[in-house]
Amino acid sequence: MHDLIIIGAGLAGSCLATVLSRQGWDVVLLERRHLPQHKVCGEFLSPESQISLRALGLYDTVANLSPIHMDHAQLTTASGINMRVGLPGQAWGLSRFVLDQVLLETAAQAGADTRTGATVGDVTTNDEGCTVEVRTQEGRYTLQSRTAIAACGRHPPVGLRTTSDRTDLDDYQSHVGIKCHYEGITMPQRVEIYLFPGGYAGVAPVEGGRVNLCLLSTRAAFRSVGASHDAMLEAICQWNPSLGQRLAAGTKLPDTQVAVAPVDVRRLPMPWDGVARVGDAVTMIPPLCGDGMAMAIRSAEMCAPLAHAFLSGECSLAEWEQRYTQMWHHELDRPLRFGRWFQTLLSQPIRSNVLLSLGNLMPFLATKAVQATRVPRHARDFNVGTLL
Ligand SMILES: Cc1cc2nc3c(=O)[nH]c(=O)nc-3n(C[C@H](O)[C@H](O)[C@H](O)COP(=O)(O)OP(=O)(O)OC[C@H]3O[C@@H](n4cnc5c(N)ncnc54)[C@H](O)[C@@H]3O)c2cc1C
Repeated sequence: MHDLIIIGAGLAGSCLATVLSRQGWDVVLLERRHLPQHKVCGEFLSPESQISLRALGLYDTVANLSPIHMDHAQLTTASGINMRVGLPGQAWGLSRFVLDQVLLETAAQAGADTRTGATVGDVTTNDEGCTVEVRTQEGRYTLQSRTAIAACGRHPPVGLRTTSDRTDLDDYQSHVGIKCHYEGITMPQRVEIYLFPGGYAGVAPVEGGRVNLCLLSTRAAFRSVGASHDAMLEAICQWNPSLGQRLAAGTKLPDTQVAVAPVDVRRLPMPWDGVARVGDAVTMIPPLCGDGMAMAIRSAEMCAPLAHAFLSGECSLAEWEQRYTQMWHHELDRPLRFGRWFQTLLSQPIRSNVLLSLGNLMPFLATKAVQATRVPRHARDFNVGTLL
């Protein structure tokens, strides 16, 4: 019987596995992919994520990967209106290819039993603990643990699916994400967001002199170009000519191109469902605001001391659930709500022109809007220490 099984070695899962293994717990970290692999993500690691990385003892690990530093963002509408807004600190541009692999290795070095190519098919929980069914290329096996944590991103395995994991999305609710690296583009050290009808594309410099392009579009817009990834990458350069100019000198690196669908950006948050959920397993953080990774790491930071308290016998499962759920909602409901609101507004051309023009007239409003979508820094006053 293991102490803890963590399902998914994305950011949230690997961070949690590292912290709890360092505390001496017998942790198994299961990941269905073989790493390193490219992942659909803007690869913009916000200043807030660095606060959580520091708290988890992982700041130096990531800082040593030579991320590109950025201190502002520029938004551009399809009709060419620009708005520049400062970030609440230095953000980092770093590929998920490197980041996910290094965090997984760090978890292994901390003592976690890390298994890749291991897909969790089903999870059952009872008073004794959890039984997790694992599928690999070689066959199936089961593992037992005192508890489990779902860090499996947007699509939980069978036993952890709930009604909030919707499958009935129409072409305007369901989204498609595509990402690709480019070489040969010289750009300022900032993140650039290009809006187009039905979505947006983020462009950010990452390590190795590359630039990452990542778009999120409604399935309706994607279908309008014949549902082809390459056609979509060409179409957005026409829909937003400023983006076309930014990418004009670049060479696309086809082996870095990946896509994901469906992406449901309106799923109800569910921090607990039989077991704790962290990161995107709780809900999809609106990607436009570039704080999904910060929220994933912050949820790991919130969950780790409670998992430790449960495993040490200092709190019951019910107390862990109540405290974690309360803390998650207290801290992340507001940025989630604002993030969804801005993402919806900015995906419509007329509204995005009005909003950016307003932001140019009143820059303090733009700064306030950015702050409203971030993991709040003051929230650390309401921490696990005060709850336990
Ligand atoms: C288009 C787009 C752009 C984005 N851009 C940004 C950005 O610029 N900045 C930012 O901060 N955030 C961004 N995000 C959000 C960010 O990518 C996520 O919030 C973040 O990756 C969540 O981390 P996680 O650890 O919860 O999940 P993930 O990183 O998704 O990790 C989950 C892991 O679980 C594994 N897994 C899933 N199911 C199973 C299973 N059954 N068994 C075993 N393993 C399993 C998966 O393979 C995966 O490795 C973006 C998202 C999208 C869609």
